[in-house]
Amino acid sequence: MSQRDPHQSGESSPLSLSRRRLLTGGLAAGLTGGLLTGLAASGFAFSTLAAQAAAPLAGISQPGALRRRLGKFEITALLDGYLELGPDLIIGYDPAIGEPLRAASFATGPAMRGPVNAFLVNTGDKLVLIDAGTSDKMGPTLGHLPKALAAAGVTPEQIDAVLITHMHPDHIYGVLTPGGLPMFPNAELLLPEADHAFWYDDAALNAAPEMMKGFFLGARHAADAYARRQTRFKAGEEVLPGFTALAMPGHTPGHSGLRIDSDGQSLLILADVVHVPALQFARPEWSVAFDVDPALAAETRNKVLDMASADGVMVAGMHLGFPGFGHVARDGEAYRYVAASWPYAG
Ligand SMILES: [Zn+2]
Repeated sequence: MSQRDPHQSGESSPLSLSRRRLLTGGLAAGLTGGLLTGLAASGFAFSTLAAQAAAPLAGISQPGALRRRLGKFEITALLDGYLELGPDLIIGYDPAIGEPLRAASFATGPAMRGPVNAFLVNTGDKLVLIDAGTSDKMGPTLGHLPKALAAAGVTPEQIDAVLITHMHPDHIYGVLTPGGLPMFPNAELLLPEADHAFWYDDAALNAAPEMMKGFFLGARHAADAYARRQTRFKAGEEVLPGFTALAMPGHTPGHSGLRIDSDGQSLLILADVVHVPALQFARPEWSVAFDVDPALAAETRNKVLDMASADGVMVAGMHLGFPGFGHVARDGEAYRYVAASWPYAG
């Protein structure tokens, strides 16, 4: 984002923003003249506007770290960065249906920009990081999780456990530094058993499409760095106190959601059940090209969204608009995503 948010920049007068927009051609010149004449007539000091407009632009957005409470836990959404997914990566994409959905979400350009989120849970006793971002492996729009973690006031050394929902590059590569060392030297790495079995299966590696082969080697490289402090979990297990693994297969064989419970409150981590919210809540049958089993991924998506909408539980997703907290609503045969409002207080 290149334009500053006036609410965060300390510019208290809405008039200064109006003037800047007007003078940069945002509105018709006639209106500009009208407004400025009106301001002058009301005795408004023009010099005040000019001084405030000189504030420098902030450039790239600040590190993303937003915290909310869940029972006795604190959950901080951490933004690793963003990626772009074009309709060519949506399996079964029908422009007659998809283009109006894209237009309805105010998408511009051919690709849809979406975040890579991770979530840090402070249980009061342990710091648990759910997914780890990309390190330096996916280009300059990603790899910012360490900055987000620092903004949250946490060092990598403090992390007790890194819980991986599935072993794809945008979730597990961040357990390594760019130099290939463990980013979280004191953490135990928790991996879904079924995903570990798949990514270490040489037959699956050999059978994979060429573009996927690197995923196998990268996943192994990342997991191997934690070989001495590694636990593999099965769906249905309480992985850590308050964290229950849920089978959500299809995207990868061991792709796992999580239900986090604390003091009577629950959060459902959807992981990668949805990659493109603007399309897949309305068309849950549309999977993505990097789903290992697209049909099973679609079946899982329908089941999980149905459950989430019936329960009304708060959800969090790794590719839902940052900070990625919201609810799933039923919408006829499909679904609608409702982003959670800012919690304001603990
Ligand atoms: Zn992902």
